Amino acid sequence: MHTLDVALGARSYPIYIGQGLLGQDLLRRHVRASQALIVTNETIAPLYLDKAKASLGDLAQVDTLVLPDGEQYKTLATLEKIFDALLANRHSRTTTLIALGGGVVGDMVGFAAASYQRGVDFLQVPTTLLAQVDSSVGGKTAVNHPRGKNMIGAFHQPRAVLIDTTVLDTLPPRELSAGLAEVIKYGLIRDADFYRWLEVNMAGLMQREPALLAEAILRSCRNKAEVVAEDETEQGNRALLNLGHTFGHAIETATGYRDWLHGEAVGAGTMMAAQLSADLGWISQADVARIGALTRAAGLPVAPPPGMTAEQFRSLMALDKKVMDGRLRLVLLKAIGEAVVTDQFDMQVLTRLLEKMCQ
Ligand code: NAD
Ligand code: MG
Repeated sequence: MHTLDVALGARSYPIYIGQGLLGQDLLRRHVRASQALIVTNETIAPLYLDKAKASLGDLAQVDTLVLPDGEQYKTLATLEKIFDALLANRHSRTTTLIALGGGVVGDMVGFAAASYQRGVDFLQVPTTLLAQVDSSVGGKTAVNHPRGKNMIGAFHQPRAVLIDTTVLDTLPPRELSAGLAEVIKYGLIRDADFYRWLEVNMAGLMQREPALLAEAILRSCRNKAEVVAEDETEQGNRALLNLGHTFGHAIETATGYRDWLHGEAVGAGTMMAAQLSADLGWISQADVARIGALTRAAGLPVAPPPGMTAEQFRSLMALDKKVMDGRLRLVLLKAIGEAVVTDQFDMQVLTRLLEKMCQ
Protein backbone atom coordinates (compact mmCIF):
# COMPACT_ATOMS: atom_id res chain seq x y z
CA MET A 1 0.00 0.00 0.00
CA HIS A 2 1.10 3.56 -0.76
CA THR A 3 0.08 6.51 1.38
CA LEU A 4 0.18 10.12 0.20
CA ASP A 5 -0.67 13.21 2.18
CA VAL A 6 -2.63 16.17 0.94
CA ALA A 7 -0.96 18.94 2.94
CA LEU A 8 -3.60 21.46 3.92
CA GLY A 9 -2.75 22.24 7.52
CA ALA A 10 -5.63 21.29 9.82
CA ARG A 11 -7.53 19.93 6.82
CA SER A 12 -4.72 17.57 5.72
CA TYR A 13 -5.68 14.01 4.86
CA PRO A 14 -4.22 10.73 3.62
CA ILE A 15 -4.78 9.05 0.25
CA TYR A 16 -4.34 5.26 0.49
CA ILE A 17 -3.63 3.40 -2.75
CA GLY A 18 -3.40 -0.36 -3.12
CA GLN A 19 -4.98 -3.65 -4.10
CA GLY A 20 -7.82 -4.97 -1.96
CA LEU A 21 -7.89 -2.02 0.45
CA LEU A 22 -11.67 -2.10 0.70
CA GLY A 23 -11.40 -5.44 2.51
CA GLN A 24 -9.25 -3.92 5.28
CA ASP A 25 -10.18 -1.74 8.26
CA LEU A 26 -8.88 1.54 6.81
CA LEU A 27 -12.29 3.16 6.47
CA ARG A 28 -13.17 2.30 10.05
CA ARG A 29 -10.09 4.17 11.31
CA HIS A 30 -11.35 7.41 9.81
CA VAL A 31 -14.91 7.26 11.14
CA ARG A 32 -14.92 9.67 14.06
CA ALA A 33 -17.97 8.55 16.07
CA SER A 34 -20.53 5.72 15.96
CA GLN A 35 -22.56 6.60 12.84
CA ALA A 36 -21.87 6.37 9.13
CA LEU A 37 -23.91 6.58 5.93
CA ILE A 38 -22.53 4.87 2.84
CA VAL A 39 -23.90 6.39 -0.36
CA THR A 40 -23.46 4.60 -3.67
CA ASN A 41 -25.43 3.93 -6.86
CA GLU A 42 -27.36 0.99 -8.28
CA THR A 43 -24.48 -0.12 -10.54
CA ILE A 44 -21.85 -0.15 -7.81
CA ALA A 45 -24.00 -1.41 -4.92
CA PRO A 46 -24.20 -5.05 -6.08
CA LEU A 47 -20.43 -5.06 -6.71
CA TYR A 48 -18.92 -3.37 -3.67
CA LEU A 49 -21.46 -2.23 -1.07
CA ASP A 50 -21.31 -5.36 1.08
CA LYS A 51 -17.54 -5.16 1.19
CA ALA A 52 -17.58 -1.49 2.18
CA LYS A 53 -20.14 -2.19 4.88
CA ALA A 54 -18.23 -5.17 6.26
CA SER A 55 -15.06 -3.09 6.51
CA LEU A 56 -16.77 -0.85 9.08
CA GLY A 57 -16.92 -3.83 11.42
CA ASP A 58 -18.16 -2.99 14.88
CA LEU A 59 -19.54 0.49 14.16
CA ALA A 60 -22.87 0.97 16.01
CA GLN A 61 -24.85 2.43 13.11
CA VAL A 62 -24.09 1.96 9.42
CA ASP A 63 -26.82 3.07 7.01
CA THR A 64 -26.72 2.76 3.26
CA LEU A 65 -28.33 4.70 0.44
CA VAL A 66 -28.39 3.54 -3.17
CA LEU A 67 -28.99 6.28 -5.73
CA PRO A 68 -29.86 5.95 -9.41
CA ASP A 69 -26.80 5.90 -11.72
CA GLY A 70 -26.00 8.84 -13.97
CA GLU A 71 -24.84 12.44 -14.29
CA GLN A 72 -28.51 13.43 -14.83
CA TYR A 73 -29.10 12.58 -11.16
CA LYS A 74 -26.34 14.88 -9.89
CA THR A 75 -28.99 17.35 -8.78
CA LEU A 76 -30.44 19.15 -5.79
CA ALA A 77 -33.34 16.67 -5.88
CA THR A 78 -30.97 13.74 -5.32
CA LEU A 79 -29.15 15.67 -2.62
CA GLU A 80 -32.46 15.90 -0.82
CA LYS A 81 -32.60 12.08 -0.71
CA ILE A 82 -29.25 12.05 1.06
CA PHE A 83 -30.48 14.58 3.63
CA ASP A 84 -33.69 12.56 4.06
CA ALA A 85 -31.69 9.41 4.79
CA LEU A 86 -29.52 11.27 7.30
CA LEU A 87 -32.42 12.86 9.13
CA ALA A 88 -34.69 9.81 9.06
CA ASN A 89 -31.90 7.80 10.68
CA ARG A 90 -31.04 10.58 13.15
CA HIS A 91 -27.49 11.20 12.06
CA SER A 92 -25.80 13.78 14.28
CA ARG A 93 -23.07 16.31 13.57
CA THR A 94 -20.43 13.68 14.31
CA THR A 95 -21.61 11.33 11.55
CA THR A 96 -19.40 10.31 8.61
CA LEU A 97 -20.61 10.15 5.02
CA ILE A 98 -18.87 7.67 2.76
CA ALA A 99 -18.95 8.16 -1.01
CA LEU A 100 -18.60 4.81 -2.77
CA GLY A 101 -18.58 5.44 -6.50
CA GLY A 102 -17.35 7.56 -9.36
CA GLY A 103 -17.15 11.32 -9.57
CA VAL A 104 -20.91 11.75 -9.66
CA VAL A 105 -21.43 10.06 -6.29
CA GLY A 106 -18.28 11.67 -4.86
CA ASP A 107 -19.25 15.22 -5.85
CA MET A 108 -22.78 14.83 -4.51
CA VAL A 109 -21.87 13.17 -1.23
CA GLY A 110 -19.10 15.72 -0.70
CA PHE A 111 -21.58 18.55 -1.07
CA ALA A 112 -24.08 16.80 1.19
CA ALA A 113 -21.31 16.52 3.81
CA ALA A 114 -20.37 20.18 3.33
CA SER A 115 -23.89 21.31 4.13
CA TYR A 116 -25.50 18.71 6.42
CA GLN A 117 -25.71 20.39 9.83
CA ARG A 118 -23.23 22.97 8.46
CA GLY A 119 -20.60 20.38 7.68
CA VAL A 120 -19.78 16.79 8.66
CA ASP A 121 -16.93 14.38 7.89
CA PHE A 122 -16.79 12.45 4.66
CA LEU A 123 -14.59 9.76 3.15
CA GLN A 124 -14.00 9.17 -0.54
CA VAL A 125 -13.91 5.62 -1.92
CA PRO A 126 -13.54 6.35 -5.63
CA THR A 127 -14.38 3.48 -7.99
CA THR A 128 -13.66 4.93 -11.44
CA LEU A 129 -10.15 5.73 -12.65
CA LEU A 130 -11.26 9.34 -13.17
CA ALA A 131 -12.46 9.61 -9.58
CA GLN A 132 -9.30 7.90 -8.27
CA VAL A 133 -6.90 10.27 -10.03
CA ASP A 134 -8.96 13.44 -10.04
CA SER A 135 -12.36 14.08 -8.50
CA SER A 136 -11.86 12.37 -5.11
CA VAL A 137 -8.83 14.52 -4.29
CA GLY A 138 -8.98 18.26 -3.74
CA GLY A 139 -12.28 19.02 -2.06
CA LYS A 140 -14.34 20.39 -4.92
CA THR A 141 -17.92 19.23 -4.41
CA ALA A 142 -21.04 20.14 -6.37
CA VAL A 143 -24.31 19.29 -8.03
CA ASN A 144 -25.55 20.48 -11.41
CA HIS A 145 -28.22 23.09 -12.10
CA PRO A 146 -30.35 22.94 -15.28
CA ARG A 147 -28.48 26.07 -16.42
CA GLY A 148 -24.98 24.78 -15.76
CA LYS A 149 -22.77 21.91 -14.62
CA ASN A 150 -21.34 22.02 -11.07
CA MET A 151 -22.97 25.40 -10.45
CA ILE A 152 -24.06 24.67 -6.85
CA GLY A 153 -21.23 23.49 -4.63
CA ALA A 154 -18.60 24.05 -1.99
CA PHE A 155 -14.99 23.36 -1.15
CA HIS A 156 -15.05 20.61 1.48
CA GLN A 157 -12.07 18.31 1.92
CA PRO A 158 -12.56 14.61 2.72
CA ARG A 159 -10.98 13.08 5.86
CA ALA A 160 -9.38 10.34 3.79
CA VAL A 161 -9.38 8.90 0.26
CA LEU A 162 -9.28 5.13 -0.08
CA ILE A 163 -8.28 3.91 -3.54
CA ASP A 164 -8.69 0.16 -4.01
CA THR A 165 -7.26 -0.54 -7.46
CA THR A 166 -9.01 -3.92 -7.74
CA VAL A 167 -12.38 -2.20 -8.26
CA LEU A 168 -11.14 -1.09 -11.68
CA ASP A 169 -11.53 -4.70 -12.89
CA THR A 170 -15.23 -4.10 -13.47
CA LEU A 171 -14.91 -0.65 -15.05
CA PRO A 172 -16.14 -0.41 -18.66
CA PRO A 173 -13.30 0.22 -21.19
CA ARG A 174 -14.50 3.67 -22.23
CA GLU A 175 -14.51 4.76 -18.59
CA LEU A 176 -10.93 3.52 -18.21
CA SER A 177 -9.85 5.58 -21.22
CA ALA A 178 -11.71 8.63 -19.91
CA GLY A 179 -9.71 8.40 -16.69
CA LEU A 180 -6.48 8.08 -18.64
CA ALA A 181 -7.18 11.47 -20.26
CA GLU A 182 -6.75 13.10 -16.83
CA VAL A 183 -3.69 10.92 -16.09
CA ILE A 184 -2.02 12.14 -19.31
CA LYS A 185 -2.94 15.69 -18.30
CA TYR A 186 -0.73 15.56 -15.18
CA GLY A 187 2.24 14.52 -17.28
CA LEU A 188 1.63 17.28 -19.78
CA ILE A 189 1.13 20.15 -17.33
CA ARG A 190 3.89 19.49 -14.78
CA ASP A 191 5.61 16.11 -14.89
CA ALA A 192 7.69 15.30 -17.98
CA ASP A 193 9.16 12.17 -16.31
CA PHE A 194 5.69 10.80 -15.70
CA TYR A 195 4.76 11.64 -19.29
CA ARG A 196 7.68 9.54 -20.58
CA TRP A 197 6.70 6.73 -18.19
CA LEU A 198 3.19 6.82 -19.65
CA GLU A 199 4.57 6.55 -23.20
CA VAL A 200 6.42 3.39 -22.18
CA ASN A 201 3.55 1.88 -20.18
CA MET A 202 0.31 2.89 -21.89
CA ALA A 203 -0.22 -0.53 -23.49
CA GLY A 204 0.11 -2.21 -20.08
CA LEU A 205 -2.25 0.31 -18.50
CA MET A 206 -4.83 -0.45 -21.19
CA GLN A 207 -4.38 -4.15 -20.26
CA ARG A 208 -5.09 -3.10 -16.65
CA GLU A 209 -1.85 -4.49 -15.24
CA PRO A 210 -2.37 -3.90 -11.50
CA ALA A 211 1.13 -2.68 -10.66
CA LEU A 212 1.10 -0.20 -13.53
CA LEU A 213 -2.35 1.11 -12.63
CA ALA A 214 -1.26 1.60 -9.02
CA GLU A 215 1.84 3.51 -10.16
CA ALA A 216 -0.15 5.72 -12.55
CA ILE A 217 -2.72 6.49 -9.83
CA LEU A 218 -0.01 7.24 -7.26
CA ARG A 219 1.85 9.62 -9.56
CA SER A 220 -1.39 11.30 -10.66
CA CYS A 221 -2.58 11.79 -7.08
CA ARG A 222 0.84 13.11 -6.07
CA ASN A 223 0.60 15.75 -8.79
CA LYS A 224 -2.97 16.64 -7.90
CA ALA A 225 -2.17 16.79 -4.17
CA GLU A 226 0.76 19.16 -4.82
CA VAL A 227 -1.32 21.47 -6.98
CA VAL A 228 -4.17 21.51 -4.46
CA ALA A 229 -1.81 22.09 -1.51
CA GLU A 230 -0.43 25.17 -3.30
CA ASP A 231 -3.79 26.58 -4.36
CA GLU A 232 -6.74 24.98 -2.59
CA THR A 233 -9.46 27.30 -3.93
CA GLU A 234 -8.15 27.94 -7.47
CA GLN A 235 -6.84 31.47 -7.17
CA GLY A 236 -3.89 30.61 -9.39
CA ASN A 237 -2.08 27.47 -10.53
CA ARG A 238 -4.90 25.02 -9.77
CA ALA A 239 -6.36 26.30 -13.07
CA LEU A 240 -3.57 24.38 -14.89
CA LEU A 241 -5.66 21.27 -14.18
CA ASN A 242 -8.06 22.60 -16.81
CA LEU A 243 -5.75 21.74 -19.72
CA GLY A 244 -7.97 20.68 -22.63
CA HIS A 245 -11.09 21.44 -20.60
CA THR A 246 -12.18 24.70 -22.28
CA PHE A 247 -12.21 23.03 -25.71
CA GLY A 248 -13.58 19.87 -24.07
CA HIS A 249 -16.36 21.76 -22.35
CA ALA A 250 -17.42 23.20 -25.72
CA ILE A 251 -17.51 19.67 -27.15
CA GLU A 252 -19.58 18.37 -24.22
CA THR A 253 -22.05 21.24 -24.53
CA ALA A 254 -22.34 20.93 -28.33
CA THR A 255 -23.04 17.21 -28.02
CA GLY A 256 -25.51 17.70 -25.17
CA TYR A 257 -23.37 15.70 -22.66
CA ARG A 258 -24.66 12.51 -24.29
CA ASP A 259 -22.29 11.11 -26.90
CA TRP A 260 -18.89 11.73 -25.37
CA LEU A 261 -17.62 11.09 -21.87
CA HIS A 262 -15.90 14.00 -20.13
CA GLY A 263 -12.48 12.36 -20.48
CA GLU A 264 -13.03 11.77 -24.17
CA ALA A 265 -13.84 15.46 -24.65
CA VAL A 266 -10.74 16.34 -22.61
CA GLY A 267 -8.62 14.04 -24.83
CA ALA A 268 -9.73 15.83 -28.00
CA GLY A 269 -9.60 19.20 -26.21
CA THR A 270 -6.03 18.55 -25.11
CA MET A 271 -5.05 17.85 -28.72
CA MET A 272 -6.57 21.20 -29.69
CA ALA A 273 -4.67 22.99 -26.92
CA ALA A 274 -1.47 21.22 -28.00
CA GLN A 275 -1.94 22.16 -31.65
CA LEU A 276 -2.66 25.77 -30.69
CA SER A 277 0.53 25.80 -28.60
CA ALA A 278 2.44 24.55 -31.66
CA ASP A 279 0.78 27.06 -33.98
CA LEU A 280 1.92 29.80 -31.57
CA GLY A 281 5.46 28.42 -31.83
CA TRP A 282 5.64 27.33 -28.17
CA ILE A 283 6.03 23.57 -28.73
CA SER A 284 7.11 21.63 -31.83
CA GLN A 285 4.95 19.71 -34.27
CA ALA A 286 6.90 16.61 -33.14
CA ASP A 287 5.61 17.25 -29.59
CA VAL A 288 2.06 17.38 -30.95
CA ALA A 289 2.64 14.07 -32.73
CA ARG A 290 3.87 12.51 -29.47
CA ILE A 291 0.77 13.74 -27.62
CA GLY A 292 -1.43 12.43 -30.43
CA ALA A 293 0.19 8.99 -30.28
CA LEU A 294 -0.24 8.71 -26.49
CA THR A 295 -3.84 9.97 -26.64
CA ARG A 296 -4.69 7.39 -29.32
CA ALA A 297 -2.94 4.64 -27.37
CA ALA A 298 -5.20 5.50 -24.43
CA GLY A 299 -8.23 4.86 -26.64
CA LEU A 300 -9.21 8.52 -26.78
CA PRO A 301 -10.36 10.73 -29.67
CA VAL A 302 -7.78 13.20 -31.03
CA ALA A 303 -10.14 15.54 -32.93
CA PRO A 304 -13.50 17.16 -32.27
CA PRO A 305 -16.65 15.22 -33.17
CA PRO A 306 -17.46 15.18 -36.88
CA GLY A 307 -19.98 17.86 -37.70
CA MET A 308 -18.97 20.23 -34.93
CA THR A 309 -18.20 23.63 -36.47
CA ALA A 310 -15.65 26.34 -35.73
CA GLU A 311 -18.55 28.70 -35.12
CA GLN A 312 -19.91 26.40 -32.42
CA PHE A 313 -16.54 26.40 -30.68
CA ARG A 314 -16.31 30.19 -30.89
CA SER A 315 -19.69 30.80 -29.35
CA LEU A 316 -19.42 28.07 -26.71
CA MET A 317 -15.91 29.07 -25.64
CA ALA A 318 -16.90 32.72 -25.34
CA LEU A 319 -19.50 31.64 -22.80
CA ASP A 320 -17.02 29.58 -20.84
CA LYS A 321 -16.30 30.85 -17.35
CA LYS A 322 -12.61 31.23 -18.18
CA VAL A 323 -13.43 34.40 -20.10
CA MET A 324 -12.43 37.29 -17.84
CA ASP A 325 -12.57 40.93 -18.85
CA GLY A 326 -13.40 39.95 -22.38
CA ARG A 327 -10.20 37.94 -22.90
CA LEU A 328 -10.22 34.19 -23.34
CA ARG A 329 -7.84 32.49 -20.92
CA LEU A 330 -6.59 29.06 -21.93
CA VAL A 331 -4.20 26.49 -20.52
CA LEU A 332 -1.48 26.05 -23.14
CA LEU A 333 1.80 24.15 -23.30
CA LYS A 334 5.30 25.62 -23.18
CA ALA A 335 6.75 22.10 -23.33
CA ILE A 336 5.69 18.55 -22.59
CA GLY A 337 5.63 18.82 -18.79
CA GLU A 338 5.05 22.58 -18.55
CA ALA A 339 1.78 24.47 -18.94
CA VAL A 340 0.69 28.08 -18.46
CA VAL A 341 -2.66 29.76 -17.97
CA THR A 342 -2.65 32.70 -20.34
CA ASP A 343 -4.67 35.17 -22.36
CA GLN A 344 -1.52 36.30 -24.17
CA PHE A 345 -2.04 34.69 -27.55
CA ASP A 346 -3.15 35.86 -30.97
CA MET A 347 -6.89 35.19 -31.40
CA GLN A 348 -6.31 34.91 -35.17
CA VAL A 349 -4.19 31.80 -34.55
CA LEU A 350 -7.01 30.28 -32.51
CA THR A 351 -9.56 31.13 -35.20
CA ARG A 352 -7.41 29.48 -37.89
CA LEU A 353 -6.93 26.40 -35.68
CA LEU A 354 -10.69 26.00 -35.23
CA GLU A 355 -11.22 26.26 -39.02
CA LYS A 356 -8.45 23.68 -39.55
CA MET A 357 -9.63 21.16 -36.95
CA CYS A 358 -13.35 21.35 -37.79
CA GLN A 359 -13.86 19.90 -41.23
P1 NAD B 1 -19.48 8.41 -12.97
O1 NAD B 1 -19.44 8.68 -11.54
O2 NAD B 1 -20.75 8.70 -13.70
O3 NAD B 1 -19.06 6.89 -13.25
C1 NAD B 1 -19.05 6.43 -14.57
C2 NAD B 1 -19.85 5.13 -14.70
O4 NAD B 1 -19.08 4.04 -14.19
C3 NAD B 1 -21.16 5.12 -13.94
O5 NAD B 1 -22.12 4.45 -14.68
C4 NAD B 1 -20.80 4.34 -12.68
O6 NAD B 1 -21.92 3.74 -12.08
C5 NAD B 1 -19.86 3.31 -13.24
N1 NAD B 1 -18.89 2.74 -12.31
C6 NAD B 1 -18.22 3.39 -11.35
N2 NAD B 1 -17.32 2.59 -10.78
C7 NAD B 1 -17.43 1.38 -11.37
C8 NAD B 1 -16.78 0.15 -11.20
N3 NAD B 1 -15.75 0.01 -10.36
N4 NAD B 1 -17.17 -0.89 -11.97
C9 NAD B 1 -18.17 -0.73 -12.87
N5 NAD B 1 -18.81 0.42 -13.10
C10 NAD B 1 -18.45 1.47 -12.34
O7 NAD B 1 -18.35 9.24 -13.76
P2 NAD B 1 -16.86 9.69 -13.37
O8 NAD B 1 -16.17 9.82 -14.65
O9 NAD B 1 -16.29 8.87 -12.31
O10 NAD B 1 -17.09 11.14 -12.75
C11 NAD B 1 -17.61 12.21 -13.50
C12 NAD B 1 -18.09 13.27 -12.56
O11 NAD B 1 -16.98 13.74 -11.79
C13 NAD B 1 -18.68 14.49 -13.23
O12 NAD B 1 -19.90 14.83 -12.61
C14 NAD B 1 -17.64 15.58 -13.01
O13 NAD B 1 -18.22 16.87 -12.91
C15 NAD B 1 -17.03 15.15 -11.72
N6 NAD B 1 -15.65 15.61 -11.51
C16 NAD B 1 -15.37 16.26 -10.37
C17 NAD B 1 -14.09 16.69 -10.11
C18 NAD B 1 -13.77 17.35 -8.81
O14 NAD B 1 -12.67 17.88 -8.63
N7 NAD B 1 -14.68 17.32 -7.86
C19 NAD B 1 -13.06 16.47 -11.04
C20 NAD B 1 -13.38 15.79 -12.20
C21 NAD B 1 -14.68 15.37 -12.44
MG1 MG C 1 -11.73 16.88 -15.86
